[in-house]
Amino acid sequence: MYYVSTKGKAPKVRASEAILQGLAVDGGLYVPEQFPYTSLQNLGTTSSFVELAYELLYPWFDNDILQPYLDQLCAEAFTFPAPLHWHNQKDSVLELFHGPTAAFKDFGARFLAAAMERLLDLQGKTLTILVATSGDTGGAVASAFYRRKHISVKILFPRNRVSQRQQQQLTCWDDNVQAYSVDGTFDDCQRMVKAAFMDKTLADKHALSSANSINLGRLLPQMIYAWKAAIEVLVQTGREPTMIIPSGNVGNSCGTYWAKASGAPIGNIKLAVNANRTIVDYLDKGTYEKRSSIDTLANAMDVGDPSNIERLFHLFPDYDAFKHAVSAVSISDEEIKATIKRVWEQYRYILCPHTATGERLRELYPSEEPSVVYATAHPAKFDSIVEPIIGSSIAIPPQLSDLIEKTTSVVEVPPDYRVIFS
Ligand SMILES: *Cc1c(COP(=O)(O)O)cnc(C)c1O
Repeated sequence: MYYVSTKGKAPKVRASEAILQGLAVDGGLYVPEQFPYTSLQNLGTTSSFVELAYELLYPWFDNDILQPYLDQLCAEAFTFPAPLHWHNQKDSVLELFHGPTAAFKDFGARFLAAAMERLLDLQGKTLTILVATSGDTGGAVASAFYRRKHISVKILFPRNRVSQRQQQQLTCWDDNVQAYSVDGTFDDCQRMVKAAFMDKTLADKHALSSANSINLGRLLPQMIYAWKAAIEVLVQTGREPTMIIPSGNVGNSCGTYWAKASGAPIGNIKLAVNANRTIVDYLDKGTYEKRSSIDTLANAMDVGDPSNIERLFHLFPDYDAFKHAVSAVSISDEEIKATIKRVWEQYRYILCPHTATGERLRELYPSEEPSVVYATAHPAKFDSIVEPIIGSSIAIPPQLSDLIEKTTSVVEVPPDYRVIFS
């Protein structure tokens, strides 16, 4: 099993090399040379999430040095469930927020951390991970890489520009994880990461890598819950569900397209985006124009130039194919608020602002087919937005309250990457 670059100018590699490299040498993203196919019959007796993950990921690691360790990696990474919550006989919500930082990014970050640690251990090497974060990613990465022996993590976030709870999740670590509060914007943080990667003298001293959503190791696990939910809906209703995915960098949606391409019983796939409507405009006009990002209530989806879009373009190479397979709808902040209120009143179910975009899409395009909205984060992470709307307080899940109680440590730095390596 090989992976090729979306730009087509880099050598093909095995899964492990793609995971350690992140980006291909030609600047493209790794995609499978050919999709493995898993038949539903073969999965017949698989019961637990870990077993399903192992069965599904096995062919993606064919002939790879990690393949013999895959069962351990899955058991280590996927220690929490991904249950379906049914509103009624056909509409359900896939709860992806039961991990340590209460957002779906825990699945990818934990698998990536387990895979990287194992690879570095086999090679006797160490690595420094640099992450610029505006919210959820940094917390998931910090939690997943905490106390790994071969990896140290440096997290950069823009000072006074993340929520109180988000900052807590970024700064409540010690040991191999250090958070830096940067006197600047998220773009400044990203610029620092890029500058560090380009500094050749620094590269001689530290092997650097990133853990953002373009890494294959974060994407692959996101296929598993799509499979699991689709199978459950099929068993329950006899039909293949439409998957509705709150999207930003479209990593989560890409995982679902890959699941479908490798045999998962999925019908349509629909992307809900916020006011950042780059993909919606592409579908309308046929020309792709990246934008600067706009701030919304669903801040983890505030992306003007989705990094994984290249993978979707590779899967659906011309406009007609893309338009046939991808639909996307832009949801405003007003609709997000109204939907949180409606779903609370209708079902007594609490949505986070991201998940609300998916529920609004379902409401706008009602269908006889069963559909699954991905619940990408726990609403308690966005208490200051959600509580006033539902007029009631949200119980904090235990994993979040553990993080909230930890003491924090942070280093304040100017927007210059050299300071964090001095
Ligand atoms: C990251 C994130 C998203 C967007 O996911 P992508 O894979 O970037 O499309 C949506 N909701 C939440 C809560 C997130 O953290």
